[in-house]
Amino acid sequence: MPTPIGHTLTGVIIHTIIRKKREHCQGWICLLFCIIFSSLPDIDFITLTNLSFTSFTSFPSFPHQGAENCFSLPGVRLSWENHHGPTHSLGFAMLIMLIVGVVARIFQKNWKQWSILSGLCVISHVLMDILVTKKGLMLFYPLSTHRIILAIGFPFGYSPEMGFIGFVVMSALEEMVILGGILIVIWKVMK
Ligand SMILES: [Zn+2]
Repeated sequence: MPTPIGHTLTGVIIHTIIRKKREHCQGWICLLFCIIFSSLPDIDFITLTNLSFTSFTSFPSFPHQGAENCFSLPGVRLSWENHHGPTHSLGFAMLIMLIVGVVARIFQKNWKQWSILSGLCVISHVLMDILVTKKGLMLFYPLSTHRIILAIGFPFGYSPEMGFIGFVVMSALEEMVILGGILIVIWKVMK
C-alpha cells in the first residue's frame, strides 16, 4: 500500500520530467495537477451515504479486515470496504483521460497533453499499488473483473507484529528514501 506520500512524490517526479519537455507544464498548477491525479484512484476510500449522522466507528487496524472498520461523518464514510476496486484500473485511467480531455478542450488548445498527463498520473498510481497489493487489482476493468496479482512485498512486506501504524510509518519511510532518491537524481539530470 503506497501511502499518500508515495503517490505525491510520484506526481512530483512526473512533473519534474514533463516540465522540461512541455511548455504547458511549467508552473505550480501543473505540479498540483500531477499530484492530484497521481492520488486520484484512492477516492475509493470515500463512500457517499445518506445525510443521517453516523458517528465514528473505529479506525482500521489493517486494510481489508472488513467493512466494519470505517470513519463516518454526515453524508461521507471513509473505509477500506471498496478500496482497490474499479478506480485502480486502466479503464478508470481512460475515463479520466476522456473527462480531462473534454474539460481541457473548453479552456485550452493543448487539451491532448493534459489528457495524456492525467492518464500517466493515474496509471503511475495503479502500477505502484499493484506491486504491493496482495489481493491484486482489476487491471482491465470493466472488460474483466479478474484480479491480477503482482505483489512483490516491496521492499519490506507487512507482518502482523508491525500493526497498522507501524506498517504505514515503515511504508512512508521506504517511499521517502526510494522515491525521494529518484526525484533528486531526476532533478539533477533534468536541470
Ligand atoms: Zn491506491
